[in-house]
Amino acid sequence: MPNTKLNFNQFIFEVTRRCNLECPHCARGEAQNIDLSMAHIDTTIAQMRRVENVSLTGGEPFLVPDTIKHILEQLKKNDVECYSFSVVTNGTILSEDIAEIFNDIGFYCRASQYKKKNRRYPMKAEIEISDTPYHNNNPQEALEFYSKHCNGNVRVHIQDYTKYGNDESNKYEMAYSGRAKSLDNSFGCSSLCYQADMSGNNIKCKVQLNSTGDIALSELVEFETEDTYNMGCVEDRPIIDMLKHWNRVYLLDCTNAWHRETAIKALESGRMSLNDRREAREMIYNINEIEENLQEESGLI
Ligand code: SF4
Repeated sequence: MPNTKLNFNQFIFEVTRRCNLECPHCARGEAQNIDLSMAHIDTTIAQMRRVENVSLTGGEPFLVPDTIKHILEQLKKNDVECYSFSVVTNGTILSEDIAEIFNDIGFYCRASQYKKKNRRYPMKAEIEISDTPYHNNNPQEALEFYSKHCNGNVRVHIQDYTKYGNDESNKYEMAYSGRAKSLDNSFGCSSLCYQADMSGNNIKCKVQLNSTGDIALSELVEFETEDTYNMGCVEDRPIIDMLKHWNRVYLLDCTNAWHRETAIKALESGRMSLNDRREAREMIYNINEIEENLQEESGLI
């Protein structure tokens, strides 16, 4: 496979679809017994030159410490510049080995920043611990544990959901996706079907390697949605070719795609007033028209 080296603003590794909790608000839906393979990681990282932020998602990423370590080893082996590396964990797995891996990651990010001279990122490695009314965890205990075992290159903190209106009057913001669909207060929804923002080999959108080995744009969606809307397996074609092909098919920008998906899911939820339903239908109609115009202009229809 010809190897075009890419620069990513943010690249996300979905390291596992397993989880040790069953939160009622989980946007992923039911956990699956799938872990990201080392071979898929190797093929992906071999195509990177620079990633400003590497993120891990799941499932629960701390279930697969060897995978996290392998990602770091591959970044080193391929000399990928990586300025920051973050993970959101449910904080139920307290492991000195994981803390040590993040100390190494923090050091690597710091070294990348120094190599680049004028470039200074306040964050190097980051462990963010989930704290919502729906997680059956002890974020304070996890905070104390990882703060004690991580060094100054790793920022350990509890996620602040209050900014999303997490209080009695404004409930808790989340996507209408996965298990959250059965909760009263779900709203909003992400779409994966939009034009990737890129220029040459510089990829500005968040790109993800799914646990299945597929490349996709990255949003908080159900596993089934990731399996439906992706660019194909990383072993089959270079990532740059996948992105170029994707952009010939999906022409909407992310804002319009997001608005349309939210309107579709809001209608599907059946929890809207008549007026809101009218507005949602109008929005879907208008955005469909924008999309058709774009398709006409590009010769797709
Ligand atoms: S929200 Fe996070 S911790 Fe909870 S079930 Fe989903 S992946 Fe697991």
